[in-house]
Amino acid sequence: MSRNHIRTAVVSNHGRTEVRERLASAGVSVDVIVGKFDLDRYGQLCKPARDPMVVAVAQMGLEPSEVVCIADCSTDELAAMGACIDCLMVGGFSEEDLIRSLGSNPAPEPDSRDYDSFRVPVMGIIGCIVGDTLGSRYEHSRTTDYNFKLFPSGSHPTDDFLGTLAVARWLLGDRSRESLERSLSMMVNCHPRAGWSHRFRNWARSSNRVPYGAVTNGSAMRVSACGWAAGSLDEALDLAGRSAEVSHNSPEGIAGAQATAACIYLTRTGHSKAEVKKYIEDTFGYDLDVTVGEHRQRAIHEYTCPVSVPQAIRCWLESDTYEQTVRNAISIGYDADTVGAIAGSIAAASPGMEVPQAWADRCFGLLHGELRQLFYDFCSAFPAE
Ligand SMILES: [Mg+2]
Repeated sequence: MSRNHIRTAVVSNHGRTEVRERLASAGVSVDVIVGKFDLDRYGQLCKPARDPMVVAVAQMGLEPSEVVCIADCSTDELAAMGACIDCLMVGGFSEEDLIRSLGSNPAPEPDSRDYDSFRVPVMGIIGCIVGDTLGSRYEHSRTTDYNFKLFPSGSHPTDDFLGTLAVARWLLGDRSRESLERSLSMMVNCHPRAGWSHRFRNWARSSNRVPYGAVTNGSAMRVSACGWAAGSLDEALDLAGRSAEVSHNSPEGIAGAQATAACIYLTRTGHSKAEVKKYIEDTFGYDLDVTVGEHRQRAIHEYTCPVSVPQAIRCWLESDTYEQTVRNAISIGYDADTVGAIAGSIAAASPGMEVPQAWADRCFGLLHGELRQLFYDFCSAFPAE
């Protein structure tokens, strides 16, 4: 079902009357429009650090899942709350653009899941979201302090976990290449400012989605669900390779995803760290003897699989707990959220290295709308504990 009715449209650069008329001419009816006037008013009410859009939505008593942004007003904060950003249009938009964009994303199904009796798991893809969230504030303000502050204000899931949920949605569905491309594209369109690279965002928004040979760590950051959905090591490698190659069709990009998924599959099926280390070194050629301290000193500033994945695996190998793993990963001092997400994903497959329940609950609480539904559905279909 495409959307021909919007509960709420949020706009900033256009007058409300203009927006309503344009939507009506596109066959889309709207209940509520938050306009620039509202934002100015709420902007004066809130602290500068707080986004007026978020305050406006809260003041109007709206659920983020009811909010659809249709102009160039989306924010990380609103997106992290689960609002769906259908299209971003700066300086005006056409009815054709609007119809195409709204029509490409199906309206969400009513949510009848029983969240009240849902105990947030402490193993599984939760390890990815917690590592990502813990690292989110340190990607751009880097730290090499192992004792960095946990969950500083504004910590939130980023592209690493949203990509993981897009792969999870693919694994829950028909597992065709087209289905994966569509799932990733929808996730980027709904959360365009979650931290995606420009190249990946352009790929997701293009009509023919040609893989672009990326060697970047995006294939590894989104792969953890493959390690949990697989029934054998071969299947883990196959799913991981397919999850990567739609965009990261380079040997390095595919290897990064497969190595991460293999670590998860092998450790969750009872293999020791020494066995996993040997398998990864023999199969993928990664040097896993470089210590966390040496990685921190080397300060190699690259967002690639051959750099980030061995770092993340080593962080896990050197640790006895989930917290040690993600503290190691984030304090290497570069791509903190992604190395945190990958390392956290592996740790949360290791018996005895579970995510602290309070952290799991806290990060699950940051998910709303479709993101919360996808997490619940994947954890229910592929229980980790
Ligand atoms: Mg990120």
